[in-house]
Amino acid sequence: MRILLTNDDGIYAAGIAALKRQMSALGEVVIVAPDAQRSATAHSITIERPLRVREVYVDGAFFGHAVDGSPADCVKIAVREILDAPPDLVLSGINPGTNVGINVLYSGTVAAALEGAILGITSAAVSLAAAERPDFAAASQVTLYLIREILGHNPLPGSLFNINLPNCPADAIKGVAVSRQSVVSYEDKFDVRIDPRGGRYYWMTGQMSRQNVAADSDVARLQSGFVTVTPLHYDLTDEKALEEISRWGLSL
Ligand code: MN
Repeated sequence: MRILLTNDDGIYAAGIAALKRQMSALGEVVIVAPDAQRSATAHSITIERPLRVREVYVDGAFFGHAVDGSPADCVKIAVREILDAPPDLVLSGINPGTNVGINVLYSGTVAAALEGAILGITSAAVSLAAAERPDFAAASQVTLYLIREILGHNPLPGSLFNINLPNCPADAIKGVAVSRQSVVSYEDKFDVRIDPRGGRYYWMTGQMSRQNVAADSDVARLQSGFVTVTPLHYDLTDEKALEEISRWGLSL
């Protein structure tokens, strides 16, 4: 099988290298990733300027294709131009830092996998609950195991799996929890400082609210030591509202 591997942290990130080493056990791994850090760029695409693709070599060996665009750009250009046939799997990660709850809406890691799903390819985003000192070696081993399991169930083409891993050795993980996405919002904060010319600037910080986190959600399950798997869909239609609003008889 052929796997398209990408991320949002850039082609030189440690998480993508670890994943490449492990996933090669499943087949051919082709890397098409941003040329630089593109975290929190969500599902942006580049249309006002051209895209450049550059071959990247690591220790003298061909490593992958670097694109001066977003994670979604990478998947589009890989499937439409770089690969001669669509891959069997689009894999995005491993991201240092979780992509649970509403983070999936800001995440470039998840957006790359979403783009794969939109193109009808089975896709997965993989994130690790550690921004500092992530153990990518352990996480990529768990990922390989889990991806094998998932593919063994023959998911429908275009299925999207959002996977989040606790940062601990494989034998300390409590199990796999298929979970819903939490909808708890962010408690946004801005660090306000003064630049050397006396101008004010703002740096976004803040954290996800700890209030009202549903027990069956990705946020709660990951916190209690489970690997979480959340199936996602890019159809954002609010089905309940659709039914209700259809009955309003809106007219001009
Ligand atoms: Mn990232």
